[in-house]
Amino acid sequence: MKWKEALSTMKPYKPGRSIEDVKEKYQLDEVVKLASNENPYGCSTHVVEFLTSSSLPFEIYPDGHATILREKLAEKHGVQEEAILFGNGSDEIISIICRALLDEDAHTVMPTPSFPQYAHNAKVEGAAITEIPLVDGQHNLDAHLAAIDERTQIMWVCNPNNPTGNLIAHKDLLRFLEEVPSDILVVLDEAYYEYVTDPLHVDSISLLERFPNILILRTFSKAYGLASFRIGYAVSSPNIITELNKIRNPFNTNTLAIAVASKALENDVFVEKCRALNEEQRKRFETYAENNRLHIYDSQTNFVLIEVPCDADAAAEFLLTNGYIVRSGNALGTPGYLRITIGTEEQNTGLFHAFDRLLNENR
Ligand SMILES: *Cc1c(COP(=O)(O)O)cnc(C)c1O
Repeated sequence: MKWKEALSTMKPYKPGRSIEDVKEKYQLDEVVKLASNENPYGCSTHVVEFLTSSSLPFEIYPDGHATILREKLAEKHGVQEEAILFGNGSDEIISIICRALLDEDAHTVMPTPSFPQYAHNAKVEGAAITEIPLVDGQHNLDAHLAAIDERTQIMWVCNPNNPTGNLIAHKDLLRFLEEVPSDILVVLDEAYYEYVTDPLHVDSISLLERFPNILILRTFSKAYGLASFRIGYAVSSPNIITELNKIRNPFNTNTLAIAVASKALENDVFVEKCRALNEEQRKRFETYAENNRLHIYDSQTNFVLIEVPCDADAAAEFLLTNGYIVRSGNALGTPGYLRITIGTEEQNTGLFHAFDRLLNENR
């Protein structure tokens, strides 16, 4: 077989350690996973009640239009139903966008370090990629603009950025959008939108009227606590959504996912509560870092990127043996740091104790 050229330099996705896996390997009774930015408070009771009391037609193909969910989301965001595209996680939408717009003659611009799927999918399509290094954890948007050439098809913006957690100031984003030619798609990946507490932050969906070439990615995986169901969505101009819909597989989201996401939307209070609890706990991480003179990036998400006093892989391994699964920055393009999902109060207290031991061993 003659595989696509790009595949020779790629590796299959390697999943992180599971709780069960770590329990067995390190003989631990209790293991806390703070590695994938899942919601430590679970999901809405509306969803849990629905799952225990409802029956769905399992033998029938899903509604390929996700009508119930589409109506609710369109109303929530004040957009037309044709402005929304659903994906099997926002991950899938990233691949749909790349399939639709990229080939060997195309070019795309993205931040680094950031979410790896932008580069991964662009590579598969054979496109030229320009990665713009972050500056102090922040997008260097002027450099993104300077990288535009006549082949540029997609500009990626991860806001707040994974793995640094930084939020782009609204005025900076506006200036950037004003400068990007209107025939280039700007993807605003906002997987952590629901966690943002900066009072100056503006809902970018309101920018669509002025900038019809933007596409906003949101997900039910993070703040809604529904990562296992794999459902995310894009909001953009209907003409852009129509083109992407030509690529989308007819039944890319499943009946259960559509149903639970619809239920979750009925309970905004759950997400608001999680946002508030998360902010409280985020402050504890900031204080912890300050007290221990460790650098921490300004996060507007449910994770932090925090400095460690040794190699990040060694630090992650140490915390693992203490029952905490976190992500080493070595694999994320941020050596010397760990990316830690902000847990519940109790989980974080335990993590800080383990972190204290890590500091004691390295000082
Ligand atoms: C988690 C994450 C996603 C993927 O979310 P899914 O909807 O679960 O596929 C996308 N972008 C960023 C930046 C993320 O952190």
